[in-house]
Amino acid sequence: MSSKIIVIGAGVIGAASALSLQADGHHVTLLDREAPCAGASFGNAGAIVNGSCVPTAMPGIIFDVMRMAVQPLSPLSIRPEYFHRILPWLLRFSWQSRPAAASKNASHLRALTKHAVDYWRQLVDETALTAFVEEAGWLKVYEEEASFAATAKARKLMDETGTSYEVLGRSEINDFEPNLAPIFNFGLYQKDCLRIVNPHKLVKGMVDLMLSRGGRFRQFEVDRLQPEANKVNLSGSAGTITADKVIVAAGAWSRSLAEQLGDNVPLDTERGYHLMLSESTRDLLNAPVVNGESSFVLSPMDTGIRLSSQIEFGGLLAAPDYSRVRSLLPLAKRMLPTLDTHEQSAWMGFRPSLPDSLPVLGFSTNSENVLYAFGHQHLGMTMGAVTGKLVSDLIAGRDPITDMMPFRPSRF
Ligand SMILES: Cc1cc2nc3c(=O)[nH]c(=O)nc-3n(C[C@H](O)[C@H](O)[C@H](O)COP(=O)(O)OP(=O)(O)OC[C@H]3O[C@@H](n4cnc5c(N)ncnc54)[C@H](O)[C@@H]3O)c2cc1C
Repeated sequence: MSSKIIVIGAGVIGAASALSLQADGHHVTLLDREAPCAGASFGNAGAIVNGSCVPTAMPGIIFDVMRMAVQPLSPLSIRPEYFHRILPWLLRFSWQSRPAAASKNASHLRALTKHAVDYWRQLVDETALTAFVEEAGWLKVYEEEASFAATAKARKLMDETGTSYEVLGRSEINDFEPNLAPIFNFGLYQKDCLRIVNPHKLVKGMVDLMLSRGGRFRQFEVDRLQPEANKVNLSGSAGTITADKVIVAAGAWSRSLAEQLGDNVPLDTERGYHLMLSESTRDLLNAPVVNGESSFVLSPMDTGIRLSSQIEFGGLLAAPDYSRVRSLLPLAKRMLPTLDTHEQSAWMGFRPSLPDSLPVLGFSTNSENVLYAFGHQHLGMTMGAVTGKLVSDLIAGRDPITDMMPFRPSRF
């Protein structure tokens, strides 16, 4: 049966959900308080990592967090004024980093990410969106043996979950990426992934596709959600509107909307940064490359190389601080000696993160007319298309491709 469905949030998750619901014949309106793709989906590293399964909460991570948080130029930082706010999240995160929990979370993550490439291909197939998605590998490189050895726990999880990868030596790394300095002795390579050449254009293109198929977009900031027996009222910046069903895909801002319905989900944000470098750099790499030692990614985009990095716990309100990401420029130059590090622009975005590294995908515990789809942390682009498919399956009452219990909002 065709329903009137409102999707809150025009990031990759909202746009993919809207397209998938539309394909089932629903009347879809996508809402965002800003223009489409103004959130985390705008400025990420553009990697679709098929089968990605390593949760952020890995055994031993909490010691790394505490060590890095006090180092001035580490890839992770906690704003002092936010420390008391993030502490409960970090305690849950620490609990999720026990070996048994990390192993369970890895298999749940993989249950979604192993479909990433297939569902992206279905989504873009025979549309203008194919221009924004290319086949690519996912390569992490290391100079030191000790740094590579420290990936053993991650590789064990990949082995356990059946995620395939290859270990590369120096010459193989340079065969893949001839412009990299010949300083990297170890590589971890996952083939059969995709790269997005411009995440903003891709997601905006998804919204345009939805509009061309009869959907609607409205700039509307939702302040209040009120479910009734057979409908949901939404009120906010442009009055009150009503829908049969609502999808909450508001990324890092979803927590307060869920709270209104009595669902207390420990969503917080891992803020991340990027620098867009000179347009002349765009052909220096074939695919995104991760510097495994310094935790940053160089991604070739259609407008130049994007350097992305950092996990900053600072909440949704603090102003950006670009100094840490800028401090990586000499390291990027060491990695890619011909890199022109002239900066076109700088950006900060809000990864929506839960302590177990899994998204929330499921109906509100208090209304079967409100469905949550948020919390995709570092993997929202990867899981975008498969999430859209799951959203439409759940709304249709079809059997989803995997057990949804691990993703239910009441798991905390
Ligand atoms: C530096 C960085 C690099 C990354 N690299 C990768 C990568 O390579 N691969 C990968 O898979 N993932 C990556 N990610 C993660 C990925 O970008 C996110 O997981 C994903 O974009 C989240 O999408 P979303 O649609 O849930 O949220 P968003 O894109 O943030 O969209 C949420 C939208 O909701 C809107 N909104 C919020 N509240 C309201 C409201 N009350 N009313 C109306 N609208 C509202 C916002 O305006 C926003 O547009 C990266 C993230 C960062 C920060």
